[in-house]
Amino acid sequence: MGFGTTGGTTAHLNNFFDTSYDKVINDFGLDKARLLADAARDALEIIRHNVSAYDIECDHEPRSAYLFSLDDEQEKELDSLVEGSRKAGIEMHEVAENPFGIPCTKVVEIPGQAQFHPLKYVKGLLTEFIHSGGMIIEGCRVTEAVKEGEGLKISTTRGTLHGKHLIYATHIPPGRNIMHFRNAPYRSYAMALKLRNGAYPRTLGYDMLEAYHYYRTHEVDGEEYFIVGGEDHKTGDVENSDECFQRLEEYVSRYFDIERVAYKWSSQYYEPADGLPYIGPLPGNPSNVYCATGYSGNGMIFGTLAAKTLSGLIADGDSPYKELFSPSRVKPVAAFSQMVKENVDVIKHLVVDSFTVEKLNALADLERDEGKVVSYDGNQLAMYKDVHGKTHILESKCTHLYCTLVWNHEEKSWDCPCHGSRFGIDGDVLTAPAVKGLKNLAAKQEDEPLD
Ligand SMILES: Cc1cc2nc3c(=O)[nH]c(=O)nc-3n(C[C@H](O)[C@H](O)[C@H](O)COP(=O)(O)OP(=O)(O)OC[C@H]3O[C@@H](n4cnc5c(N)ncnc54)[C@H](O)[C@@H]3O)c2cc1C
Repeated sequence: MGFGTTGGTTAHLNNFFDTSYDKVINDFGLDKARLLADAARDALEIIRHNVSAYDIECDHEPRSAYLFSLDDEQEKELDSLVEGSRKAGIEMHEVAENPFGIPCTKVVEIPGQAQFHPLKYVKGLLTEFIHSGGMIIEGCRVTEAVKEGEGLKISTTRGTLHGKHLIYATHIPPGRNIMHFRNAPYRSYAMALKLRNGAYPRTLGYDMLEAYHYYRTHEVDGEEYFIVGGEDHKTGDVENSDECFQRLEEYVSRYFDIERVAYKWSSQYYEPADGLPYIGPLPGNPSNVYCATGYSGNGMIFGTLAAKTLSGLIADGDSPYKELFSPSRVKPVAAFSQMVKENVDVIKHLVVDSFTVEKLNALADLERDEGKVVSYDGNQLAMYKDVHGKTHILESKCTHLYCTLVWNHEEKSWDCPCHGSRFGIDGDVLTAPAVKGLKNLAAKQEDEPLD
């Protein structure tokens, strides 16, 4: 529970999104933008209601948010964003001062936002779910769902389940399906800072840079932390993720008096092709299989809306947001045309004995705690030498659609730049869509081709 991105989120609760209302008006029309604004208000209210009805202690606090432009170009974008938001029915107004103290050309306040501790909230919901008769099975990966009469036969790593409906609330649905061509995986970096002067801003904040910075304060056990984030990039595009943290710290230190970095982490999110999430029946699957994905950096709100939309569809056969979030909608996907799967180039009959490992080590010239993809004997291998000097050798192609994996130094994982699957150093799946681990070439010799 909480293993995925929800354990790495910064949990701003907003009624505006990474896809701004002016863009939604442009691409989907004013009615849909207004519906999206209604949905956002709905989600904020559902969260507020859950916190109070189930007495969930999750540091839920109302906040205002501030958007600010750092130059004239950004100001134009901000103006257009504000105009679109107002048309959609979201209140935004210009104010004189930036509460974050960062010099800017314009500041806009958006009242009625909130923040919480995401895992405390999820834990509260989980307790209520179990109390109401629900059951949780952890450490269990769904690998396939097929039609069985009117219902479904669901294969998992811990046996078979039979059910009426299946919702893939797995950030991106696993296996091979169209959602992987409509969503692109990105990483974002976050830090919890202690400030020397103790001046912790009590609001939510965002600049208007292309990969924007986001700010808020959270109090844990009486200690305040300033949580900042940014430096987003497409998964696998950056080799040294340490540099992303360095850039983030360097940027924030221009404006804030940092005493120390208390915590830092990065996590993954999915950017949908047309800017809105995909919530509803998963195309190409039995009609009782659903997905909820493409949340961008707004999964607290869209996850809540997925719960409302999918429970409506299943229990009542309808939902006000059915069309808006339909995964079958046809919208431009040109932006992702480069996301084509690489050729299948699997490793065949490779035997990596201890002698070969030594040879490979010399060839790869790996430092301790370093990972890279190495060519050997016509094969591409994903090699990582751990801090104790042990070398871990895996096949280097993602088991999902065979893109070449990239080493993620910060998280000690092999990440797929195409669809965001992630694997641990021994080949285990960490993040969907892959459902099958990587062959561990140093541990066991395999005679059959890896497929
Ligand atoms: C750094 C960062 C900051 C963010 N900040 C914000 C923010 O301030 N506000 C906001 O609204 N959003 C934010 N987001 C986005 C938000 O965190 C995500 O959209 C959200 O957490 C996704 O939730 P999820 O439940 O869909 O996925 P996850 O939290 O990733 O959960 C998916 C779960 O599914 C499980 N799973 C995967 N495959 C299978 C399978 N085959 N079988 C069974 N289980 C499986 C995983 O183990 C995991 O437990 C941020 C994202 C990042 C990266």
